[in-house]
Amino acid sequence: MRLQHVPRAGRLLQGRGAWPRPRLNPGVRPCRDGMRESFDVAVVGGGVIGCALASELARRGASVVLLERERLAAGASYGAGGMLAPQVEAHGPGPLLELGLTARALFPDVAERLGGGFDLDLSGIVRVTFTEEGAAELRSRAEWQGRRGLQARILDAAEARDRVPGLAGDPRAALWVPDGQLDPARLTVALAEEAVRHGARVREGVPALHVGPGRVDTAAGPVVAGAVVVAAGAWSGPLTAAPGYPVKGQRVVLRLPGHPLRHTTWGDGCYLVPKAGGRVLVGATEEPEAGFDRRVTAEALARLLRAAAAVIPALAGAEVMEPWAGLRPGSPDGLPLIGPAPGLDGVWLATGHQRNGILLAPWTAHLIADALLEGAALPEACLPERFAVTGSGGAA
Ligand SMILES: Cc1cc2nc3c(=O)[nH]c(=O)nc-3n(C[C@H](O)[C@H](O)[C@H](O)COP(=O)(O)OP(=O)(O)OC[C@H]3O[C@@H](n4cnc5c(N)ncnc54)[C@H](O)[C@@H]3O)c2cc1C
Repeated sequence: MRLQHVPRAGRLLQGRGAWPRPRLNPGVRPCRDGMRESFDVAVVGGGVIGCALASELARRGASVVLLERERLAAGASYGAGGMLAPQVEAHGPGPLLELGLTARALFPDVAERLGGGFDLDLSGIVRVTFTEEGAAELRSRAEWQGRRGLQARILDAAEARDRVPGLAGDPRAALWVPDGQLDPARLTVALAEEAVRHGARVREGVPALHVGPGRVDTAAGPVVAGAVVVAAGAWSGPLTAAPGYPVKGQRVVLRLPGHPLRHTTWGDGCYLVPKAGGRVLVGATEEPEAGFDRRVTAEALARLLRAAAAVIPALAGAEVMEPWAGLRPGSPDGLPLIGPAPGLDGVWLATGHQRNGILLAPWTAHLIADALLEGAALPEACLPERFAVTGSGGAA
């Protein structure tokens, strides 16, 4: 089967000719209580990606239903570090860095639109290392990011201590980049609330059992929609046969009232993200072999706690608040899967954001809304069809 390049649902919705104020299509009938029985778009999954998308589509006038099998932010979007960190995360120049930079630049506007409420902090991230190998990596990173025209500054020892009070012993190097962080669960809920304010219906406790052309089957009956977008995180693969898979991540929140950490700080083997109320989030493991296992293990916890105290020794005396494990939506090449799902007419994917789903959420929502509502092209590097087999096969 040869897949189309042009977004199919985009044409379908465009063909109705009523955007940005869509009229009801002939199949859409209001129920007695005013609820629509069918929608322009059904979004499956109430994590940050699904909520960002529901909000973007509803703001632009589409009728939207969001189906979440548990409650909003029940998956990875609940406990993520919340870092907006394209520069810290990048191992080298490439598409993920470029997407991340574009995505990071959207957040001041998102915060203004939503009226804040999710602790956006764009004051930068410090990366320190206590090894010579790590120091060489940081210097090389400062160099290539500088060549790309980005701010990436090696700090001297005094500056490093100033930015990271309580920093341990003898760091070999420290780097500052203008990345940021926020509270991901509160962002997710704020986006869902915005979607509802613009007329979207958010249904929690409604698992999608099956998705197909123009419909989502649930235990409460089918939901009919012009397009279905699956944003079910690590569970998107089982629902659509897309090549996504879970990448388990464990982290722990500590509490040290009055702790002096202001900037997110990466050390050797962990990152420390200061959160409201004297909390510090320590992350994270990366365990693609763990499948859908969401248990917190003693070994991982011990490793994270040791790594945290090696950066800021005072954290050894902190109270352990919340160990947690989540499943990142993985993708085989590290880039998200955004666009029509191969072999499933009218079904789209918005998943595979792996370590950067919080960062990439508003950007993903813009892309899909542009494609669905205006027929705009999607970035080829993110199209799910890049994994599809041409000829007689289906999705690889
Ligand atoms: C430890 C850890 C730290 C991280 N730190 C960062 C970070 O600092 N910065 C960053 O950008 N990213 C980070 N990430 C990654 C980020 O959390 C994810 O990329 C992002 O949350 C994915 O969002 P999502 O909406 O796709 O998935 P999820 O948040 O997992 O949401 C998917 C939702 O779909 C629902 N669902 C599943 N199946 C169905 C179904 N059949 N029907 C209905 N609903 C369904 C689930 O209940 C869930 O609520 C981290 C992840 C982990 C695990």
